[in-house]
Amino acid sequence: MGIMKYAPSALANMFKPPVTTKYPAEPAEYPERSRGHIEIEIDECIGCGLCVRCCPCGTLSVDKLKGTWTIDRFDCIACGYCVEKCPKKCLYMKDGYQEPGDDKSPITYTKSPEQLAKDEEQRKALAAKAAAAKAAAEAKAKEAAAAKVAEDNAK
Ligand code: SF4
Ligand code: SF4
Repeated sequence: MGIMKYAPSALANMFKPPVTTKYPAEPAEYPERSRGHIEIEIDECIGCGLCVRCCPCGTLSVDKLKGTWTIDRFDCIACGYCVEKCPKKCLYMKDGYQEPGDDKSPITYTKSPEQLAKDEEQRKALAAKAAAAKAAAEAKAKEAAAAKVAEDNAK
């Protein structure tokens, strides 16, 4: 009796294509607007830390001097706030989820040596510019003070 009840479904299913996929043997197809996981174009990052400040899970950290960006993927909820806030648009969501594994340590991305060298040059140039501006301001102040003394002496 029980078999008869399911026989029509079983027979019909024999002529239908499978509803399951062959994942992981075949790559998964992700739905449109799937959030997946966060990726970074690390050389574009300016180390501003906005992503770190807006992350509700505290899963990100940035070291501007070392040129690193670190994420603990097991804490990330893929909310996308960091992507939204990044001023350089170097963060983006990519299809695919965190793969299972026994290593749960955070992942650190480091800028390329070329980019690190460029950043260093830029820092030095900015420091030199600031030092020049400070020296010019000090010289101007000295000049003004000397002029004031000369003016007072002339009275
Ligand atoms: S997607 Fe959300 S939880 Fe994940 S790192 Fe970005 S802000 Fe944090
Ligand atoms: S918000 Fe963007 S540019 Fe700023 S530290 Fe994060 S990833 Fe880098």
